[in-house]
Amino acid sequence: MYTPPFCPYAACSCHIDPPDPKWWSRDGFHATKAFGNVQRYVCHACGRTFSEQTFSVHFYAKFVLDLPRLERLSASSMSLRALSREFHCSCDSVINRNDRIARQGIALHTALRRMVTTTEPVCFDGLVSFDRSQYFPSDIGLSITAKSRYIYGASHATTRRSGAMRDEQKVRRDCLYEGTNFEKKAVERSFTEHLDLLADERIITKDAPLVLITDEKKEYVRAFCKHRLYRDQDENHRCVQIQVPSTWKRTCSNPLFASNYLDREIRKDQANHRRETACHSRNAANSMSRLYSYIVWHNYHKRYLVKWPVHMKATAAEKAGVNRDEQLRLRQLMFTRRSFLSHLSLAAMDYKAWNKTVFSPLAGTLVSGTLPAFALS
Ligand SMILES: [Zn+2]
Repeated sequence: MYTPPFCPYAACSCHIDPPDPKWWSRDGFHATKAFGNVQRYVCHACGRTFSEQTFSVHFYAKFVLDLPRLERLSASSMSLRALSREFHCSCDSVINRNDRIARQGIALHTALRRMVTTTEPVCFDGLVSFDRSQYFPSDIGLSITAKSRYIYGASHATTRRSGAMRDEQKVRRDCLYEGTNFEKKAVERSFTEHLDLLADERIITKDAPLVLITDEKKEYVRAFCKHRLYRDQDENHRCVQIQVPSTWKRTCSNPLFASNYLDREIRKDQANHRRETACHSRNAANSMSRLYSYIVWHNYHKRYLVKWPVHMKATAAEKAGVNRDEQLRLRQLMFTRRSFLSHLSLAAMDYKAWNKTVFSPLAGTLVSGTLPAFALS
């Protein structure tokens, strides 16, 4: 018999930790096409009703879509439209389910990232792609551990188009940029979000200083010099940045190899970041949502090395020190039990991905995507 764990309404006194085990009682059934008769409950504290489905990852869904399969195919270079054809549903349904996977994945990532014990260097680099048009390039910051290749997170920054352009392209650019307001120091802000995360969660000791490996972008140096990781360091909390020239060969002996590896993997596995195709991102927030679902798949499901014998199944997370049993337990819950935003304490960039918030040059400010109300409770 199912027992509701807490009241799903954030304002209720029984939402976090119900004081009385008898805080609910049964309240009949309601019929659904997708799940049959669903048991309803009423909360004694706030008087509101909810159902068993409220705590399911399929909450509010009108049909069940195989989420582990969607995650797998989405991480195997299938585009949004190819996925909608594969699952015989609309693109909006695929986006909706992908958002669910991303939110569930963010909750899992937040819990397991705190179990990382590795003290190896962290590589940081920006994946350059674009949203909707090549006149609106995006610089997606990605931090990854150097040896275990565990991805900490991803942050989004929209930049102006640069580089050589033909005269007609310059006219088109000026036309598109009229009335826009690009974020100032976007790449610096993006890198700072990663530094904040590392400052809060990374173990830094006298014997294990934090070593950051980046390319020679000035924005990274500026952000690092302003950050508390650099300014507040003492003998026991050392933090250094190593800059690698981008002209160095992209071999495995390159200190920035993990970032180069991740760049290659994302271009290969994410259809919307492939070069020279029609599958580019139409919506930056959807693109980040999909990337987060990929990060979770990469960290907690994909085998560390594809050339390993088949019996070796360790993931990047396990190589970084995450307990395997806990990883398997939370992966199973990720596809069944719904995570509530109000029960989580998210890092800034994770929160933005959950809320589908990105900076829009057209609006000149941060804009959140349209989310169903249940995603924010
Ligand atoms: Zn309640």
